[in-house]
Amino acid sequence: MLFSRNDQEESKYLDPIFGNEHESRDLPKYKFADKSVQPRVAYQMVKDELEDEGNARQNLATFCQTYMEPEATKIMAETLEKNAIDKSEYPRTTEIENRCVNMIADLWHAPKDEQFMGTSTVGSSEACMLGGLAMKFSWRERAKKLGLDLNAHKPNLVISSSYQICWKKFCTYWDIEMREVPLDREHLSLNMDKVMDYVDEYTIGIVGIMGITYTGQYDNIKKLDELVEEYNKHTDYKVYIHVDAASGGFYTPFMEPKIDWDFKLKNVVSINASGHKFGLVYPGIGWVLWRDKRFLPKDLVFNVSYLGGEMPTMAINFSRSASQIIGQYYNFVRYGFAGYHDIHLRTHKVAEYIIEEIKKMGRFDIVNGADHLPILCYSLKKNLNQNWTLYDLTDHLRMRGWQVPTYPMPDNLNDLIVQRIVCRADLGMNNAVELIEDMKASIKELDNARLVDKFKDSHPKNYGFTH
Ligand SMILES: *Cc1c(COP(=O)(O)O)cnc(C)c1O
Repeated sequence: MLFSRNDQEESKYLDPIFGNEHESRDLPKYKFADKSVQPRVAYQMVKDELEDEGNARQNLATFCQTYMEPEATKIMAETLEKNAIDKSEYPRTTEIENRCVNMIADLWHAPKDEQFMGTSTVGSSEACMLGGLAMKFSWRERAKKLGLDLNAHKPNLVISSSYQICWKKFCTYWDIEMREVPLDREHLSLNMDKVMDYVDEYTIGIVGIMGITYTGQYDNIKKLDELVEEYNKHTDYKVYIHVDAASGGFYTPFMEPKIDWDFKLKNVVSINASGHKFGLVYPGIGWVLWRDKRFLPKDLVFNVSYLGGEMPTMAINFSRSASQIIGQYYNFVRYGFAGYHDIHLRTHKVAEYIIEEIKKMGRFDIVNGADHLPILCYSLKKNLNQNWTLYDLTDHLRMRGWQVPTYPMPDNLNDLIVQRIVCRADLGMNNAVELIEDMKASIKELDNARLVDKFKDSHPKNYGFTH
């Protein structure tokens, strides 16, 4: 008797990927293909499709993590199937989320005599929605008791005009008037001389920002707390502070413990942060905490079943993978306080090096030279005898793989055009030296290029980068 291979499919598995018949076809793009393809071929085709996307680590526009350790990605890959909302099915995962909330509450000085509440979210945007909703509902309860005509005016939220877009979404989705305190050249963060002028009986809260997206600067939360304390002495319509610490929440406690910005301040009632920014986890994970349960109205809390009982949850989403929560806990365990401090310190040193080099170039005015967060922001000096703009520099850096955004500042400051570099943990000193070399080379090219200035007579609005 003679035997031969009878499994056609198996032989196909042994075909070289690039000799495979499926490889000779284009990818199905906008309709399902009639037939399936082998997994390894599908993998290669999809991977190839992503090839020219740009290198995430050279993307200096994003605050979001672009590197995690192999052990972190391993445990995250191994836990992708866990659904964060299934508290009963995954009680250990639930406990891990609980531990993270407790660790963060401790980091943010939640007072011992109050009962903090907190949850993970998809990111700061969801966290801000929840923080904002809690402010709206608590304001309504307070105002109703005081007999305010709730329908006479829309409730409002007070924030500086350099807010992140999620606050605009919050106000639009939940029908709230956004009261923007404008920036000016002397006030590149929330203007403390003006902010209280925007507050009235219909104010659901004031948002302070620890790490303004445009520049990386901090609002002065301590001063804001004093102003609110004084204001509240003279009115029954109390107002409180939510701190949007998307960036600062996992930076300031490790690096600038002397700055008072968190629950140490009496009128700060809730705080959000992005685990995927300086919390060093891949997107998307965020956190929101309230200093005491009285600031989180019961109407917003929904119970899910948990080990035969019930567990309170607050979220806009229902199902999502718990792997990001597990990645966050991995980082907390792995780095500890000292690890976060050392990583951020090294990142800050890289930022200091870059800003010194940029100063030496003589072309730029520094708007923020990593004063707090390792974020650099600069504009072009006036009256330079050169024929190119920051937008051109952005394009030339892009040719060398770097993504460095240029954009106008908000509202009445939008004649100020800035360029921003966000230094993250995975931007090593060797990368930074390379960046500076590439910047110098780009400037030289631009100086020698003959450019057609299509924006000469008009302001380049809507050009560039918008978050
Ligand atoms: C990034 C950021 C957000 C939004 O955070 P996501 O985690 O991306 O949803 C909100 N506020 C500020 C100040 C930010 O920097």
